Amino acid sequence: MATKIPAAQNRLYKNAFVCKVCKHKMKLEPQKILTGKARCRKCGGKDFRPVRKK
Ligand SMILES: [Zn+2]
Repeated sequence: MATKIPAAQNRLYKNAFVCKVCKHKMKLEPQKILTGKARCRKCGGKDFRPVRKK
């Protein structure tokens, strides 16, 4: 369900990333992505991209 409020959208997608391997979307801290500590819960992949990027 999409919201029309820009501030709410920003909050929703701010910490959301998509696994590049299995396309699994999950909430992660951006710091963990930058430090390489983030791992996909589904496939164990370490490659992520922001969810909004198309
Ligand atoms: Zn994955």
